[in-house]
Amino acid sequence: MDKVSIVEVSPRDGLQNEPIWVPTEKKIKLINLLAEAGMKQIEATSFVHPKKVPQMADAEEVIQACSSLQDVEITALIPNVKGYERASQFSIHEVNWVTAATETFNQRNIGRSINENFNEFTKIIANKEKTPLKICFSIAVSFGCPYEGEVNPDVVLALVERAVAAGANRIGIADTIGIADPEQTNRLLSRVLEITGELPVSIHLHDTRGLGLTNSYAAFQAGVRIFETAASGIGGCPFAPGAAGNLSTEDLVYMFHRMSVDTGINFDRLLDAADYAASLSSKTPLGRIRQVERKK
Ligand code: ZN
Repeated sequence: MDKVSIVEVSPRDGLQNEPIWVPTEKKIKLINLLAEAGMKQIEATSFVHPKKVPQMADAEEVIQACSSLQDVEITALIPNVKGYERASQFSIHEVNWVTAATETFNQRNIGRSINENFNEFTKIIANKEKTPLKICFSIAVSFGCPYEGEVNPDVVLALVERAVAAGANRIGIADTIGIADPEQTNRLLSRVLEITGELPVSIHLHDTRGLGLTNSYAAFQAGVRIFETAASGIGGCPFAPGAAGNLSTEDLVYMFHRMSVDTGINFDRLLDAADYAASLSSKTPLGRIRQVERKK
């Protein structure tokens, strides 16, 4: 039986853009519900400056609470070396370093050029041997950029090559604004997998235009086995105009279970977690299957 893994990002990507403060204990409850559904990897928070993303100001408290979880790998997003220093105080499994495939997105999102950002990345990679902390290198707007439009796949592939050579433990390819189409997804991910070999590669999907699930299947066909999604499909990037929610985890899990692909997730418990995730968001979540299943 084919197997896939899910990196659940609702506590981070799902909530980071939420204008109404979500109390820390509710974020922790969401993480616990996701773990109870069988989620094995959860991106719990982001060590970003609280002025830039106020919703993530409680990163330390959230991560602290995650330490009691059994059998769950906790990831935290970090935008810079300072974020890495904050994250590495805790016994988390992985940090997720973000670059973007375009200069404008980098400047607006991270305040640095692509090269400056990569140089910062190599500083944390230099620490790698001293710590068990794994480092994911994620490339935002890999398929299209709200400022620069079409993204040349060769730019993405060159970044992948550099990150692999530098020693990244995982490569993340992100459709930050949900602009990808399935053929483009299949082409790009096939080429990424040629570069990465045995290294884990994930795809991060947004469902802005309703193609998230289609693109996940295209990535699966290309050979991708790790998917970053958010329960109920809440979310959106604060720095990406027009970026709607993530692809909903339960829609993805439903599809894979129908295809007899093992996700390790208990679907009914996931629906409970998705209901709770949706209750924390002031926006209407994009996920579809929850509406169908809950009306039965
Ligand atoms: Zn995202």
